[in-house]
Amino acid sequence: MATSDPSKLDRIVAEARRNAEKREESYREQALKIYPWICGRCGREFTRANLRELTVHHRDHNHDNNPSDGSNWELLCLYCHDNEHQRQLEAGTGSNTRDDRNATHSPFANLKSLLADKKRS
Ligand SMILES: [Zn+2]
Ligand SMILES: [Zn+2]
Repeated sequence: MATSDPSKLDRIVAEARRNAEKREESYREQALKIYPWICGRCGREFTRANLRELTVHHRDHNHDNNPSDGSNWELLCLYCHDNEHQRQLEAGTGSNTRDDRNATHSPFANLKSLLADKKRS
């Protein structure tokens, strides 16, 4: 019973993860070469000591889109990066226009009356 081989699936998963990490490292390295180590939102400056807190954001949110001229990358600190993605979630998927929110439809418009109904019954 010498089954020391990891299962095939485990191997595939491990390899995919390794490839993803490799790809991420390479675009991160490139982005750090092209751009100054400054957060594009809050202007915080970074050094080698805290460089881990500087992230490479993809403007179109597609991590597979890595043009070598860096046009899809933006260096953001962890906080601003979080905010950027939060805003994207709130604005809904597929839209990059921040000021163009369509506020005519509110999913919670009925909530108040629904709650009121519940209270009454
Ligand atoms: Zn920042
Ligand atoms: Zn991002």
